[in-house]
Amino acid sequence: MIKKSILIVDDDKTLANAMKLTLIEEGYEVVAVNRADVAFKEIKNRFFDVAMLDLMLPDTKGMSLLNFCIEESPQTCFIMFTGNASISSAVESLKAGAYDYITKPFDIDHLKIVIRRGIEKQALLNSNQILFERLEKEKKKLEIVIEAGRILSNINSLEELADIVTAYALKISDAEKASLMMIDDEADELVIRGSSGIDKEKLTQRMKIGKFIAGWVAQQGEALLVKDIETDPRFKFYYTKGPRYKSKSFISLPLKSDNQVIGVMNITDKLAESDIFTDEDLRYLTLLGHEAVAQIKNIRLREKLSYLAITDSLTGLFNHRYCHEQLDFEVKRAQRYRHPLSLIMLDIDHFKSYNDRFGHLEGDRVLKQVAMAIKQNIRQVDVLCRYGGEEFLVILPDTDIGGAKFVAEKIRKSVSQTPLLFKEEKEKVFVSGGVAEFRDGLSKTDFISHVDKALYQAKENGRDKICLFNEKK
Ligand code: GH3
Ligand code: MG
Ligand code: MG
Repeated sequence: MIKKSILIVDDDKTLANAMKLTLIEEGYEVVAVNRADVAFKEIKNRFFDVAMLDLMLPDTKGMSLLNFCIEESPQTCFIMFTGNASISSAVESLKAGAYDYITKPFDIDHLKIVIRRGIEKQALLNSNQILFERLEKEKKKLEIVIEAGRILSNINSLEELADIVTAYALKISDAEKASLMMIDDEADELVIRGSSGIDKEKLTQRMKIGKFIAGWVAQQGEALLVKDIETDPRFKFYYTKGPRYKSKSFISLPLKSDNQVIGVMNITDKLAESDIFTDEDLRYLTLLGHEAVAQIKNIRLREKLSYLAITDSLTGLFNHRYCHEQLDFEVKRAQRYRHPLSLIMLDIDHFKSYNDRFGHLEGDRVLKQVAMAIKQNIRQVDVLCRYGGEEFLVILPDTDIGGAKFVAEKIRKSVSQTPLLFKEEKEKVFVSGGVAEFRDGLSKTDFISHVDKALYQAKENGRDKICLFNEKK
């Protein structure tokens, strides 16, 4: 137990020494001085739990010593000595912040009690102060989390969200670097979606689930607060093999939606004094994580809804409505920039017969297979739509009729050369196709009717054929 320290300031040397001896016997550490200027120095140089000041010192006036000492050492408990004549100034000193006063001559036991109570009260005040400061700090962090939640609710893209969330993570934990990774279910990997304080090029963009620290967190679904990676037996391995950071302490926490890990947030390089992340940091970062997850769910839902609105549920291709929107756009662009633009319309031959012989579900399977075959033979910039029941339309920007014909033939061959299995029977499926190129001044409707006519021609000519639109016919 550390001894409590007491400073006695009294110009009556005999009294000061007598008090000193008594209080040392009581187990205190005591310094006794007789002049105000020496007392100034003592208070400046070290901390005293209690200071007992004589109000009547020859080298100073009334309250000035007390005022100086309170300012210099507000955590100290001040007790004043006063003669009966100066009670009013003793009261004044209480107003200035002294804890109590004792009138001379005094009873030593009374003095001991006053000191003991003063120390107790001071300890209480100090712990209240610490508690208050902590609460203030926590309040600030909570306000940051709330602000982050408000800002995030207006964000529409995952990338933007990840950058903002990581910026707030740094603010909450006084750190320098943070990154946010999301799980890519198909690849069983974590992918960086955003970061703050990190040179983006230096980031490991993808990480297998289970590998390295973020991968471990994604797999375990538990937050990690590592105080020193060099001595943490779980991660020594990663420290030598994994990416290096300035500090040895970090936090890595899972982002969970309905108990499923959907991502991981990493925070490292704490700026504050000790360099080590605290449980409090983790607590507020976890709250921030909840805010992030709520918004990620919103963004994903919105993305899904807009995806559903433009796609066909059976084949996953764009639907009729989206097809017209895109064609409007491409026709305007072709007209304006004089770029070539072509269409291919494909229709499955005798599709009805598959339905009749094998049932509607098998017919659906044919539709999906043909859709896949078309997709594999076109470019990323081409737009493939399910135009009608078993009709497909491909919009080919920057492609003339020769190029489009080539693509259409490739599709036709690829479909006809891959027989499908129907209840153990191998069956070939064929498609017919029409091709048309955009001409200056043509409306969207006329453009579609051109390609439709070419398709009709292919059917007329015996199916499993590609025909080009011919103005004269
Ligand atoms: P053609 O060679 O002249 O194109 O003959 P066809 O049998 O393909 O043409 P038709 O227009 O007579 O028949 C199209 C059939 O496509 C009729 C319809 O039942 C079927 N169909 C349309 N949509 C779907 C679908 O989503 N699933 C299935 N299984 N069949 C569909
Ligand atoms: Mg057909
Ligand atoms: Mg048809």
